[in-house]
Amino acid sequence: MSDAVSRINWLTDELNRHNRLYHERNAPEITDLAYDALFRELEALEAENPGAVRADSPTRKVGSSPVAELKPFVHTVPMLSLQNGYRRAAGEEAEPSPDRWGGPYEDLFDWERGKPTRPGGLRRLLGGGAAAAIRYVVEPKLDGLAMELVYENGEFVSGGTRGDGVTGEEVTHNLRTITNLPRRLAGAPAGRVSVRGEVLFDLAGFERMNAEREARGEKRFENPRNSAAGTIRQLDPEMCRGRPLQFFAHSAGEHPDAPASHWELLAQFAAWGFTVSPLCRRCEGLEEAIEAIAAIEARRSDLPYEIDGAVIKVDDVALQEELGFVTRSPRWALAFKYPPPQVSTRLANVLFSVGRTGQVTPVAQVEPARVGGVTVRNASLHNEHQMQRVLGLRHGDRLIIQRAGDVIPEVVGAVEEPGREERPLITYPEACPECGHALVRSLSDEARPEMVQIRCPNTFGCPAQVEGALRHFASRLAMDIEGLGEKLVAQLVGAGLARRPSELYRLAERRAELVAMERLGETSARNLIEALERSKDRPLDRVLMALGIPTVGESTARDLARFFGSIEALMEASVERLDEVPNVALTTATAIHGFFADADNRAEVAALRAAGVRFVPPPATVGGPLAGKTFVLTGTLPSMGRDEMKARIEAAGGKVAGSVSKKTDYVVAGAEAGSKLEKAVELGVSILDEAGALAVISGEQS
Ligand SMILES: [Zn+2]
Repeated sequence: MSDAVSRINWLTDELNRHNRLYHERNAPEITDLAYDALFRELEALEAENPGAVRADSPTRKVGSSPVAELKPFVHTVPMLSLQNGYRRAAGEEAEPSPDRWGGPYEDLFDWERGKPTRPGGLRRLLGGGAAAAIRYVVEPKLDGLAMELVYENGEFVSGGTRGDGVTGEEVTHNLRTITNLPRRLAGAPAGRVSVRGEVLFDLAGFERMNAEREARGEKRFENPRNSAAGTIRQLDPEMCRGRPLQFFAHSAGEHPDAPASHWELLAQFAAWGFTVSPLCRRCEGLEEAIEAIAAIEARRSDLPYEIDGAVIKVDDVALQEELGFVTRSPRWALAFKYPPPQVSTRLANVLFSVGRTGQVTPVAQVEPARVGGVTVRNASLHNEHQMQRVLGLRHGDRLIIQRAGDVIPEVVGAVEEPGREERPLITYPEACPECGHALVRSLSDEARPEMVQIRCPNTFGCPAQVEGALRHFASRLAMDIEGLGEKLVAQLVGAGLARRPSELYRLAERRAELVAMERLGETSARNLIEALERSKDRPLDRVLMALGIPTVGESTARDLARFFGSIEALMEASVERLDEVPNVALTTATAIHGFFADADNRAEVAALRAAGVRFVPPPATVGGPLAGKTFVLTGTLPSMGRDEMKARIEAAGGKVAGSVSKKTDYVVAGAEAGSKLEKAVELGVSILDEAGALAVISGEQS
């Protein structure tokens, strides 16, 4: 595989993963800026290698798919995302040159006027009228949840989240609890109209809600946007009713009788009874628009809700139509993001947390500080390189903390102060803070020091790892063992009843000890044992996911299960073989191979098998290309085991039989094929080699 192709594969997997984290779990790991950088790299590579563009490339779609619990909500006019631009922070702005506009608003100039040396942008696209100033509307970019509301003859009938832009989730029941959302529009426009905007918490209400939660002994919500997302997707609208959500209208989907300008549309929304942000401005030309964008930013920390930038739109709808769309966004609008807000606060302590895979990561505990409307108590230090080399963190440091969108706040610097040099540097501990085992560090890579990992190697003895692995194994997307949550896992580990997943299946034999465990009792013990019994029938992909193989999530587990068909075939696969699996990049292939090269992991798979876990192969595709065809396998195939060939034939809908008869359609023969091959020749059955069989399976040949 060429470098470009494997990079495209890696980027596609990585961006899809971040999309899922963002849209489905509301738990992003990287900033929008970092996401955009990866996205643009993928776009550029795909443009140079059009043959390598994958069907599931994130450049082909707008977001991600809905989760199962809520009903799908179809947007009759797709909800597209906007192109992004960034205000350069002081120190990051480029000097103007013949190639660049330079300055903090460079991206806006590029958007309107193209690059100085390469004319493009709105003005060129609009041709003749380029001399006249373009009229814009500038709006605050509210950091909420995009939503569409549908009205029929002025009555609110339904509403849903953006989802992937085509299908979201229907949350009408919760939207009805939002007090500033009009149930009936003033002047009741005839027919069907859909209004789009953002649902968000106002910050005062958010703080009030947190104070009430704390008073009841419940956990604080960390982030207004995430909690708004969680709230609006509740199944029970009573959960939503007491929470201070608001809706701000900003654009239309279906609107048969739309005004001729965006500004008039906003005025119409307000007249109908919607809340429209009072910060919206109509501007003649880009200079005026930049003033409006700067004015909104100047008020950012005083606003009653969170914003992360401004949106600038071409006002005239006729011009919008003339400009049209690029792949997934309108050309006539730009989301212009401000640099993330920062605050300085004192470091109280550095906590070293041990993850499920044994990786030890540093977290800064800081004196509570308000950043962008929320109170921050912990901030990420990422890794050893960041903490020691980049930040050179010392005890008692005053830190600069930044909060970008939904990502966990991070420490971006330490303030130089008198006497700082005399305070000791903070270093990684030598021993695991959870189990005391000596920590090990992965081989250092000069070029990428941030990739060095520090781990506790005590996989089956370290309580943080043992409990993490068991919790992951039992989790809903893995083995889905009902009732086996965080508390019970900790109890089982504490009582010495389970240290690794296979031991869970021996609990049935240790029932007395289980029942005797604190607060468990006979009924819960029986329920747990029954749940464990049921989990033995989970399909192969779920078991693969449950094993906690590094880099293997839900979709990779499915691809692996489909490709290999059995755990044995997967365990024997070489890195090269793994690299051939659709959607699996070389880094992932290497990680999977490394996992199964470990004797402990192989022993654990064997123990699960012995305990009765069935590793159920993926079902044969009904009506696949090989439906109704019977194969017989004989001899040694050059590149794969017979298990794998069998799995592939079955995945394509074919059957594999043990002996050759008149009913056999194909015999797949490898080296040293014996009597079955002779029988096939005798009966005139088609004989295939491995390559021929693969061609038949893929449908290239019949
Ligand atoms: Zn440990």
